[in-house]
Amino acid sequence: MMDCKHATQLMSAELDRALGVGERIGLEVHLTICRGCDNYREQIRVLRKACQVYRHNLEEAADDDLPPLPPPAGK
Ligand SMILES: [Zn+2]
Repeated sequence: MMDCKHATQLMSAELDRALGVGERIGLEVHLTICRGCDNYREQIRVLRKACQVYRHNLEEAADDDLPPLPPPAGK
């Protein structure tokens, strides 16, 4: 059985890459029984969405003669 640490690692990874079938199944099984990780996944989705909106707004602002944006911070 996958533990919470592994589950959160996969949830982060799935934002950047497609998970393998085994990873996805293991994660889904874990999420059905683990409320904490289920909540965590929801939170990182909301956060990611918020970041996209924020960045989009910055880029729109950048069209108005502002200096170029710094590159996105690495992980
Ligand atoms: Zn968990």
